[in-house]
Amino acid sequence: MLNFIDSHCHLDFSNNISHLIAQAQQVGVSRFVVPSVNYNNCSTVLALSQQYSAVACAFGIHPHFIQSDNKLSSLTKLATAQRNNIVAIGEIGLDGAIATDLTIQIELLVKQLKLAKELDLPVICHAHKAYDPLLKQLRIIKLKRGGVIHGFSGSLVQANEFIKLGFKLGIGGVITYPRANKIRTTVSQLSLENIMLETDSPDMPLFQQQGKPNAPVNIPIIAQTISELMEIDLAQVASQTNCNTTTLFSLD
Ligand SMILES: [Zn+2]
Repeated sequence: MLNFIDSHCHLDFSNNISHLIAQAQQVGVSRFVVPSVNYNNCSTVLALSQQYSAVACAFGIHPHFIQSDNKLSSLTKLATAQRNNIVAIGEIGLDGAIATDLTIQIELLVKQLKLAKELDLPVICHAHKAYDPLLKQLRIIKLKRGGVIHGFSGSLVQANEFIKLGFKLGIGGVITYPRANKIRTTVSQLSLENIMLETDSPDMPLFQQQGKPNAPVNIPIIAQTISELMEIDLAQVASQTNCNTTTLFSLD
């Protein structure tokens, strides 16, 4: 059986985590990276990583979860104390389609990028309708460890700009939709060295699964679609994306 990693899933949003893990392991999905979405959520994802050896966690404040008090100084303290128990700063980023002003989002993003740099960690970035403002900040900060643009759905030109900055592209269920021409074309032109597999579960349902919560068990379907689009053997997709993910996050 092939071995896969789900590089981005919110397992803690489910109330049946052990089932999701066992179900995924049955189809070869053996590791899970679970980012937090805000400070309050950090202790939950940390506890998950302590309970399950297959789970690695990251700390960050997601743009959708920006509040009047983001408790960023508490998050900084916790991330510093738990530096060796987290694999990244995330989920952080920018979203051009939400009500929160982009200036406020950028301010929080920059502080968290600086934290990643200080702690020598990669970042997990959410980027929706905001590739250019995100690129601008990443070019200023110049992270040594780079990171991943999760749920990537842009063009090859945009992909290459992130790759130049040491970033991988997280590819998820969107590519299973036959009408998702843009990202399917991009994926067919990317090099396997630059991508990672992800579900973003319970979000981002796959084609023909609309209305059902997404789960890490779907990773092999995403890998199979990549294998077809790139015309590369499925086993090679599995082994190279595993290598990309373990290297970026320094998973043992
Ligand atoms: Zn996410």
